[in-house]
Amino acid sequence: MNKQPNQENRSLQETPCPICGSQNFVWGRTVGESVSQWVYFRADEAGWGEGERLRACKCIDCKNIQLFTYD
Ligand SMILES: [Zn+2]
Repeated sequence: MNKQPNQENRSLQETPCPICGSQNFVWGRTVGESVSQWVYFRADEAGWGEGERLRACKCIDCKNIQLFTYD
């Protein structure tokens, strides 16, 4: 039986990249063309004006980007 890593006990910074397994991340905001434009997640049932701002975590090694909402 393989023991699965427990995601609950790991911070995002310590969780390896799902693509390459690296832990070299850089965190950042997600913005549109203008610095004042954020990128949002908006659920299908949410109305216009609703949504959650996204932040991004880029893997330095494979350049994969994962998106997260803020707490
Ligand atoms: Zn990676």
